[in-house]
Amino acid sequence: MVATTQKDGSTWYRCEECDMLFDLEEDAKAHEEYCDTDSPSYLQ
Ligand SMILES: [Zn+2]
Repeated sequence: MVATTQKDGSTWYRCEECDMLFDLEEDAKAHEEYCDTDSPSYLQ
């Protein structure tokens, strides 16, 4: 998920998976597409 956060008087977009911050919502959503910090299911 992408969460919004206020920092230095402006809105930032944070990837809830890895806590990476983006200044553009488009960048955050694009990152989220390939962010794979979830536990790999193949280890189960
Ligand atoms: Zn991420």
